[in-house]
Amino acid sequence: MLIGILDADLIGRKRHRFPNLACMKLSHHHKMLGDEVVLKTDYGGLDVFDHIYISKVFMDTPVPDSALKLPNVSYGGTGFFYDKAPALPEVVEHQMPDYHFYDSWVAEQIAAGKKARNFSYYTDYSIGFLTRGCFRKCGFCVNQNYDRVRFHSPLSEFIDSDRKKICLLDDNFFGCSDWQRLLSELQETGRPFQFKQGLDERLLTDEKCATLFGSKYDGDYIFAFDNVADAELIEQKIKLARRYTNEVMKFYCFCGFDRTERWDLTFWRQDIFDLFTRIEILMRNRCLPYVMRFARYSESPYRGLYITIARWCNQPSFYKMKSLREFAELNGIASACFKYLSDFEESFPEVAHFYDMKYDKSDDKS
Ligand code: SF4
Repeated sequence: MLIGILDADLIGRKRHRFPNLACMKLSHHHKMLGDEVVLKTDYGGLDVFDHIYISKVFMDTPVPDSALKLPNVSYGGTGFFYDKAPALPEVVEHQMPDYHFYDSWVAEQIAAGKKARNFSYYTDYSIGFLTRGCFRKCGFCVNQNYDRVRFHSPLSEFIDSDRKKICLLDDNFFGCSDWQRLLSELQETGRPFQFKQGLDERLLTDEKCATLFGSKYDGDYIFAFDNVADAELIEQKIKLARRYTNEVMKFYCFCGFDRTERWDLTFWRQDIFDLFTRIEILMRNRCLPYVMRFARYSESPYRGLYITIARWCNQPSFYKMKSLREFAELNGIASACFKYLSDFEESFPEVAHFYDMKYDKSDDKS
């Protein structure tokens, strides 16, 4: 059979640079059955295939309706069904990913002048889930239907001896009772590893810190600080972690999501202040925020301010060197971002303190 597999995020998102694990597993599964598998990079000529799979991770990735209606097409992933996305069949889910699925596409990109280092997740990493699920049920999360964290796959199921690094996609690794055995197995590989989705900092203990920060870790340690109500606990755990590491700790800061579903002016104002409060806590503890916006932020009267805060925080060179006010001034007093700041400050002068806070670089290693 001739099988086409279409990673919709690859086609629909210009700067997307992460392989689709479901596509890689489907590819290997069909190759094992003796089928010919093609990575489709456009929506043309889909009718020549015996079967086409379309997968996407992000809800806002566009996919033409006409493709989804074809009789030989099946589609899936959180980008289509969010928290209701059906799981892959067990036999596919526990298949070794096809680590050569993207080879020709990556080669084309590099031949076209793109930098090879931008494709490292396609070429250098073994990718998979050791655990799946979470118990926290955050209202905005694809995992809210889970009740707990369960062991999912042994490392041997997705580790490729030719790949020098490991990328874990676990939702809440430290929520798994077996975390210590799994971390030991990772350490025994001798390869650097990373938890790409972030770790739950609220679950850190001395034992977890000693093991995690004693590992050969790849890139920044990433955690999440999604709710200002966790402020005290988050700060307490940062101080605990600092007994074990002086490395960069980065925190995803989710914003623009109203837990009470009011979505009114009072919410939008408070959400901006809550975001600033989290940034202030992270800044005084020499941590980096990474601002992530829920899709509905675009309905906010402070949409431009959300964008400006994200541009400042998500570029550590600016965040570490400039206050938010200085960052806006750098863009020019006639710039849109300067105006967003000024308008908000005019309505809520108490925000000035947040505009002027500055990162203290004196204790940084670099
Ligand atoms: S803690 Fe993270 S993984 Fe768990 S439900 Fe909340 S956002 Fe999702």
